[in-house]
Amino acid sequence: MKKKKKSVTKKTIKKAQIKRPSNAEAEKAVRTLISFVGENPDREGLLDTPKRVVKAYRDWYAGYAQDPREFLSKTFSETGGYDEIVMLKDIRVESHCEHHMAPFIGSAHVAYLPNKRVVGISKLARVTRIFSKRMQVQEKLTAEIANCLQDVLKPRGVAVVIEAQHECMTTRGINEPGISMVTSQLLGKFRTDPSTRKEFYSMIKQDSILKKA
Ligand SMILES: [Zn+2]
Repeated sequence: MKKKKKSVTKKTIKKAQIKRPSNAEAEKAVRTLISFVGENPDREGLLDTPKRVVKAYRDWYAGYAQDPREFLSKTFSETGGYDEIVMLKDIRVESHCEHHMAPFIGSAHVAYLPNKRVVGISKLARVTRIFSKRMQVQEKLTAEIANCLQDVLKPRGVAVVIEAQHECMTTRGINEPGISMVTSQLLGKFRTDPSTRKEFYSMIKQDSILKKA
């Protein structure tokens, strides 16, 4: 007789994905890792470490509890006819690679070409931060920020460049400090119009006029 195959429906997979362990269960897992590295989790200095690590994880992965689209829902139409590139430079990126859960840290430059409406400039930093505070690969992070801005704001184009150093590579593995990874995602006019693209890249390179003053 044939064995009846267990059918794994999409629903059960989804349910398994969203089942979150309790704080106590997560702390127990940290204790296991402490023992794994050869330490004694009952040593005085380590007694509260599982609690602290779990708390830190809540900060590092806070982006799952937020919807970046919400921050972009409020736009302004009074722009005085401004229709050139709007860009936020040097947004600090603090994220964790999903392959090692190690930090990668760097900067993002986020730009868009408004289509009659603009968004509060800090929102570009907020969107970047929300996607960063999730498990990421840099390529995906770059694309997610760009696609989110494109979908919600519907501008004439979006450009995102991220440059970051990955600790999974700089502190272990090939152990090469000083190497950074650069990714870019260009949509709309930034992709199709070479002069818009050129202007975007020259704006990145440009020294701040505030620094010159
Ligand atoms: Zn990694």
